[in-house]
Amino acid sequence: MRIKVLGCYGTEFLQFKSCGFLVDGSVMLDAGTIVSTLTLEEQRGIRDVFITHAHLDHIKDIFFLANNLFEDGGQGLTIYSTKEILQTLQQHFINGIICPDFTAIQQQDAYVLGFETMREGKFYPLDHGISIRAEKVDHNIEAVGYIIRSDYGHIVYTGDTGPTDHIWEVCNTLDKVLAVFIECSFPNELQELANLCGHLTPQTMTLELQKLKEQNCPVFIFHMKPQYLKTIQEEIDALGDKRISMLTENEVITL
Ligand SMILES: [Zn+2]
Ligand SMILES: [Zn+2]
Repeated sequence: MRIKVLGCYGTEFLQFKSCGFLVDGSVMLDAGTIVSTLTLEEQRGIRDVFITHAHLDHIKDIFFLANNLFEDGGQGLTIYSTKEILQTLQQHFINGIICPDFTAIQQQDAYVLGFETMREGKFYPLDHGISIRAEKVDHNIEAVGYIIRSDYGHIVYTGDTGPTDHIWEVCNTLDKVLAVFIECSFPNELQELANLCGHLTPQTMTLELQKLKEQNCPVFIFHMKPQYLKTIQEEIDALGDKRISMLTENEVITL
């Protein structure tokens, strides 16, 4: 699996872009950043978009991507998530007011956008040999993380979450965990704020990692609020945990 970091921050600020990860050139994990970093040719390659929750920093580029692909006359896109998250998207965003209702616009015998409702706990196979499964996490709105399975093992992507248990319990039943992508939004001194809005700090992030049986795989941190980047980095460094590294934009992780 080849994961390209299009954006990995908890907001957009100067060069810092919000969350979007391109897997094997055709699958997006979250859609906060897509079109500002990919050529049209690369955008054409995207088929499946997995949304962790409906906050704008994770969904906004659905609009721009669908628009570009529509103008381009290309194939449709499938947006995956749980029923409640897709309903929120349809009601508040892709609703024909803020954004055209691309699920009702046909092109080349297909709709520009299709919604695929996921049941938690079930792997959904994609064309090129990977499967993806949604599991609930604890954020301040309905949210899931994703587990991606390839022939080599599993990758965990938490999306936005505060302290949570279920997704780790599921991971502990799976064969091989190759890597963890975990959010870490705020520095330790803003613990109260982090708790309030369902996010992690370096100290609570490490408590989450202790819930995972696999203790040797690489851990990639994302969703840092750029304003606190330096402090978060110092606090991560102070942990002295060689598994952990902070993601940067345009980085490519091969697993
Ligand atoms: Zn977010
Ligand atoms: Zn969020």
